[in-house]
Amino acid sequence: MSFVTPATANVVPACAQCGFSWDPMIRSEVCERIGAGVASFVEVMKEAGARAAVRPRPDRWTILEYGGHLRDVLLSIRERVILASILDVPTGMPIYRDERVDLGFYAEDTVKEVIKELEVSALLFNKTVTTLPAHFDTRELVYSSRTPLAVTISSTFSNAVHECEHHLSDASDNLAMLNADNDSV
Ligand SMILES: [Zn+2]
Repeated sequence: MSFVTPATANVVPACAQCGFSWDPMIRSEVCERIGAGVASFVEVMKEAGARAAVRPRPDRWTILEYGGHLRDVLLSIRERVILASILDVPTGMPIYRDERVDLGFYAEDTVKEVIKELEVSALLFNKTVTTLPAHFDTRELVYSSRTPLAVTISSTFSNAVHECEHHLSDASDNLAMLNADNDSV
């Protein structure tokens, strides 16, 4: 297993979809970008309104599902960070992203509630980033049994920022598709 550290993060290519760069970032930047990403996501959800529950293409989630996923990712990474602060190289629980949706756990999600839940998740996440004991950023964990990649707490912070920015781009793309569909009616 190879650890994603600041030394190796530089060679990971930027995300082809959202342009996210895996360069190491300091904790204050993590919090700023999580806060900004979630605030923008909330704006997209508000603009989409009832259309947030529509899949614009069969192979895409709805904006609500992307929002529910982002909420759960933030909560899940927060638990991994706390676990890795206490145990040496623990293995995080997989989020089982598709199963959550397919089994209907998001079926009662509404725009109003997911906005609240996203905001609370971001607050909790950022509180964990700021209260993490000094020098814990390099503590290590296995991301999950499904993604058996050895990572540092610091790289899970970057991953959380990526999830926010990447799924913001998914939600914005959905909104653009829904607007285009409206225009063509
Ligand atoms: Zn991305």
